[in-house]
Amino acid sequence: MDRSSLVTAYRELIARGLSQGTAGNISLRQAGTMLITPSALPAAAMRAADIAEMDVAGEGAWRGRAKPSSEWRIHRDIYRARPEIGAVVHAHPPYATALAMARRPIPPAHYMVALFGGGDVPCAPYATFGTAELSAVAVAALAGRTACLLANHGCLALGRDLAEAMGRAVELETLAQQYLLSLAAGPVLLSERELAEALAAFGEYRGVAAEAAARPAARGRPRRGQVNVLSV
Ligand code: 13P
Ligand code: ZN
Repeated sequence: MDRSSLVTAYRELIARGLSQGTAGNISLRQAGTMLITPSALPAAAMRAADIAEMDVAGEGAWRGRAKPSSEWRIHRDIYRARPEIGAVVHAHPPYATALAMARRPIPPAHYMVALFGGGDVPCAPYATFGTAELSAVAVAALAGRTACLLANHGCLALGRDLAEAMGRAVELETLAQQYLLSLAAGPVLLSERELAEALAAFGEYRGVAAEAAARPAARGRPRRGQVNVLSV
């Protein structure tokens, strides 16, 4: 079930245009292990049996028939550093990646930046894909945040579960698109006070949503294998 949710989520990433070809990868924490999408396998060919399992305390050994994503260190190191995180999405979405190619973080030009934990979406410095160095700069950039850009590469979105991480990836790409468009007109950034109020209001807004979702009658039951990408 968890393996097929990962395949469904990866297919959704590609179908929504958030990654292309075999770019991007997704993982899900399970007790002391993580499930992660395979390396260099197109979404159409990906099966639940291709999802690899790795120990979060481990050094790269995996269980499964397919080689895990080359970015397994990023996923593992995020789970090590961030106990509250249960799922990680890495993607190369066009607008977020365009900003990452300019090595530009997303400033508080829209209050939705608060969804990612603070006053900006940072951009981690460049490092070669699949390296421990990239993992180190990504984990550092993510401090206090649930998303970051990766210079000249793409982005990361984190969540307590798969639906939340996928939802954040969608929201991040929307925010990146809006910011990039606003650069033509010259965006006005929120002041520190406006940002603080937005962060506080957003926390309350999410709290209300979480309470509603926790009420059994209000909860829409996802079908088997379905990922509710609107859960952010
Ligand atoms: P994998 O196919 O190994 O997951 O790599 C894709 C990618 O996006 C590397 O950064
Ligand atoms: Zn990548």
